[in-house]
Amino acid sequence: MSANSVIQSVYEQVLSRNPGEAEFHQAVKEVLDTLGAVLEKNPQYVEANILERFVEPERQIIFRVPWQDDAGNYQVNRGMRVEFNSALGPYKGGLRFHPSVYLGIVKFLGFEQVLKNSLTGLMMGGGKGGCDFDPKGKSDNEVMRFCQSFMTELCRHIGPDTDIPAGDIGVGGREIGYMFGQYKRIRNEFTGVLTGKGLEWGGSLVRTEATGYGLVYIMDEALKAAGKSFKGLNVAISGSGNVALFACEKINQLGGKVITMSDSNGFIHDPNGIDLDAVKQLKLVERKRIKEYAATHKNATYSDGCTGVWTVKCDVALPCATQNELDGESAKTLVSNGCIASGEGANMPTTPEGVEVFQKAGVIFIPGKAANAGGVAVSGLEMAQNSQRLSWTFEKADAELKNIMVTIYKNISSAADEYGCAGDFVAGANIAGFIKVANAMLAQGLV
Ligand code: NDP
Repeated sequence: MSANSVIQSVYEQVLSRNPGEAEFHQAVKEVLDTLGAVLEKNPQYVEANILERFVEPERQIIFRVPWQDDAGNYQVNRGMRVEFNSALGPYKGGLRFHPSVYLGIVKFLGFEQVLKNSLTGLMMGGGKGGCDFDPKGKSDNEVMRFCQSFMTELCRHIGPDTDIPAGDIGVGGREIGYMFGQYKRIRNEFTGVLTGKGLEWGGSLVRTEATGYGLVYIMDEALKAAGKSFKGLNVAISGSGNVALFACEKINQLGGKVITMSDSNGFIHDPNGIDLDAVKQLKLVERKRIKEYAATHKNATYSDGCTGVWTVKCDVALPCATQNELDGESAKTLVSNGCIASGEGANMPTTPEGVEVFQKAGVIFIPGKAANAGGVAVSGLEMAQNSQRLSWTFEKADAELKNIMVTIYKNISSAADEYGCAGDFVAGANIAGFIKVANAMLAQGLV
């Protein structure tokens, strides 16, 4: 069978075995479409059916999460953890609390995570989890009761050498704290079972900043390779959560100017440059909507609808909110407005049509599995510090992060060169990530 027929048959199986999981199909297709040359060069992967095993999660756990709201009503949500691939180490990947969460989203994120973790060069397999719970508008006590119930079930399946969850959309320091407390109470052990912990109890410096900083480090490297830098560039960012805030902070440090941010209701445009302290106060302290920013910044405008953020003229676009938020039309608008580079802070924020538009126009495009790998990389460093019972300085953790991001850029770039698609960082990231996992799977026999 030719490499292309193998890929086609694996993809057809994915469609028929995982009906209704559009995001998972999309993520798998994007990866499979770039692996033809790899299979041709490595027939041993085809003989050992690596691809078929690679798209099937090792374990999927779905569970009921009962909890009580402040009014005394009983509530029920659906929790899940997909332990996707452990060829390179224990499962590692975040938990997402958002009403849109269902198995198709968790599987797409877990699948991407396997390749992303491979790219970091650290010993981590891939997994992801979450729940259709919406933390928005809930009291701290409600969030705590929910997290305790969620962990009461999840704790049977995870452990510091088995599966180490972290945060994602809707799961920040507060939620990690409540879940860690419950794990410790039930298992009677203080271990690095979650990352993104508080600094006083096992967290790593730079973890909070890591995804946003890492995104900017890798984009800076890509810009440098094209003879450019962030200095003087206008940057459009979507989202106003963890990734967006710290990408903005690092861009400011490198002399660029962030002119937009958004949330799921709408976006702000501040041509003077976003006042980051004001956004941090709004989002992290007051937990308010981004709309409020325009009320206190008279040069800024607020518009309803989050995708309008891509109509703002910019040099670099960094989608940092959620999957499929930047489509073909938005990409065309960005290109016609002179955008030269785009990096995915979020997971799969650009639709396949959007990616095609960018690549055809020669826009530097770095996919999420490489561009946002900084978060899980510092999570890996947090695990290393926990095992050693040590805490590194900010400078050491930041230097390690930067080094990892620069190495990822080099690896995806040289994989693209080696497989005849120079400058295609989507293919480069998929190939570089996949080969390491495939070799480990081969070496470990039929598992
Ligand atoms: P946060 O919950 O901190 O922030 C998410 C931001 O995106 C918020 O501004 C939110 O707005 C917005 N958003 C969420 N859903 C939607 C939607 N459906 N449409 C428009 N906007 C939306 O999450 P993070 O910053 O941690 O994560 C953002 C992205 O980055 C996700 O794709 C995540 O998987 C990815 N990522 C995160 C990492 C991390 O370390 N945190 C690591 C690697 C990837 P609102 O407040 O209105 O919901």
